[in-house]
Amino acid sequence: MQKMSFEALGLKPELLRAVAEQGYTEPTPIQVQAIPIGLDGRDLVGSAQTGTGKTAAFMLPILQRLDNGNNGTLRALVLVPTRELAEQVLQSANAYGRYSPLRATAIYGGVPMDPQTRALARGVDIVVATPGRLLDHMGRGHVDSTKLEVLVLDEADRMLDMGFAPDVHRILDTLPAKKQTLFFSATISWEVDRLARHALDGHVAVEIGRRAAAADGVEHILVAVDRVQKRDVLARMLQEVTQGRTLVFTRTKHGADKLARHMRHERKDVSALHGGMTQSARNRALERFKNGKIRVLVATDVASRGIDVDNIVMVVNYDVPQDPEVYVHRVGRTARAGASGVALTLMSPDEWLMMWEIEKLMGRTFPREIVPGFEPSVPPLQPREQPVERPKRQGRSIRPRRGGRRR
Ligand code: AMP
Repeated sequence: MQKMSFEALGLKPELLRAVAEQGYTEPTPIQVQAIPIGLDGRDLVGSAQTGTGKTAAFMLPILQRLDNGNNGTLRALVLVPTRELAEQVLQSANAYGRYSPLRATAIYGGVPMDPQTRALARGVDIVVATPGRLLDHMGRGHVDSTKLEVLVLDEADRMLDMGFAPDVHRILDTLPAKKQTLFFSATISWEVDRLARHALDGHVAVEIGRRAAAADGVEHILVAVDRVQKRDVLARMLQEVTQGRTLVFTRTKHGADKLARHMRHERKDVSALHGGMTQSARNRALERFKNGKIRVLVATDVASRGIDVDNIVMVVNYDVPQDPEVYVHRVGRTARAGASGVALTLMSPDEWLMMWEIEKLMGRTFPREIVPGFEPSVPPLQPREQPVERPKRQGRSIRPRRGGRRR
């Protein structure tokens, strides 16, 4: 698959230089999708988790679009739920805007008003703010939003969780109608939807990461884990699957054999299925998978082609496939006929880039999860603040028994 570059997204040289200095070599899936929309001045509603690179996805277009000199009036406002996030977004604005004349500041509660008031009075182009404190400043006439061009609502679901809905609605009412709105939320509930509609003020937005999520009935779970720990994490997660069949994919025949053999120490209802087995052994394994004697089949892609079995509740990518199409194909094995299913991917650090390619193909991003006790030695691209609550799952949970899962 062709690699996308920041250049190809149409960013200015100063921004490309700043991005390169951050060490980013290629855009993340959400950046590929959102940056062109942002640069075009179109509205956007994105379902995106922290850790997917969404900050750059909205900040780079802002920096590019406002960069017709700094005139010291507020032209971009980013609303965020917490002061930690405000600080992070400000840092990103400063990092990506290193070669831009634009000025940014952060406004949040729990600290004195005065320095913020002075910063606003000196003139800033970009304000990153939590809703409550921003309203305070607005009430005192410290903020002139009449020239606002871009509004970002970041982590809108958390804003609602934290009780900011009334504040956000009040802020929205004071802003000029003609502006670009970029709206991000990890989950899109009806409440978030209502907020999005208010923020968009009747405009039609480009949606990313949302429609597909509802359509296929598959819940994609990505667990970041070191390669050597994959076996144990899988065993742990399988304990939670008490019904239905699970199909585990490995890259090689040898890998399938080894894993199945290891798993059989703990449970008897496991078999391998690969091209290295005799035809009769393969038939036997398939037959037992069908009649329920075997509940976990560890297969290679090639061998799995002939499997036509329903009620596969979980597909496990024990190895991240090297070809994004293969991911889609594997995952298509679960959630057949309108049922729901889980696609669990165990992703070691050397497989992260491949996972991005898959997400690009799918036009969606998924949260990176960590199973407590099996933290990877290198943390995945992670939120740099407190863990965000995961959206509640529908139906059966495969959460590990002890302790919640962290991201
Ligand atoms: P965010 O989802 O915006 O909180 O970003 C998560 C992390 O990914 C941050 O540490 C960013 O610096 C990093 N990041 C963002 N974009 C890229 C990229 N294209 N390549 C590598 N890292 C990135």
